[in-house]
Amino acid sequence: MNILLIEDDAVLADGLMHTLSGSGYVVTVATTGSYAQQLLTAQDFDLIVLDLGLPDMDGLELLRKIRQRKLPLPIMILTARDSVNDRITGIQQGADDYMSKPFELKELEARIHALIRRCYGGFNDVIVLGKLTLEPRNHRLSVEGQPLALSAREYGVLEILLLQAGKVVSKDRIAQRLAADDDALTDNAVEIYIHRLRKRLESYGVLIRTVRGLGYLLEASADV
Ligand code: CA
Repeated sequence: MNILLIEDDAVLADGLMHTLSGSGYVVTVATTGSYAQQLLTAQDFDLIVLDLGLPDMDGLELLRKIRQRKLPLPIMILTARDSVNDRITGIQQGADDYMSKPFELKELEARIHALIRRCYGGFNDVIVLGKLTLEPRNHRLSVEGQPLALSAREYGVLEILLLQAGKVVSKDRIAQRLAADDDALTDNAVEIYIHRLRKRLESYGVLIRTVRGLGYLLEASADV
């Protein structure tokens, strides 16, 4: 799950990034509205946390712009405690939930989990496909009860495919997930990891189909 955190308060952004990364989310921070817009054009995110008080732009204006682009992702807004009107306007303009500052990081984390559960279902649950079982919240992957050891990147790619099992996941999306780890990426990194995963998963009753021009799709294979 990729979260875009739009927050100019460095201490708060740092604390949130730490807390959410620890829960298995991939967090990208934007400290200005204009950088957030650039990121939204270049990458896919699953959820946005948006502070309404940004240095270069009114957060509500940014919220309007995001919703105008019909991005279907949930948005949590952060507001100052006394700005009731901002909260109401925010919800009217398409925010899914809000938190008033100051708040406990743990509470925001819990609300984000709830929002993700509401919008995506599976992330907090156990996903079973073929002989594979994934527990996304604690990064546990197993085959018939035995842990399956994968590299961090292999796991990252398989996690995206499993969370979207039966749906096509674009190559760009997978490349972004790979890029979230630090090392440099080669041009055909996605193909390499898909190839590796195919070999690893061969005997586990799941297969990765290539959908030409669109991406990859994970599904249960018939011959288990
Ligand atoms: Ca702020």
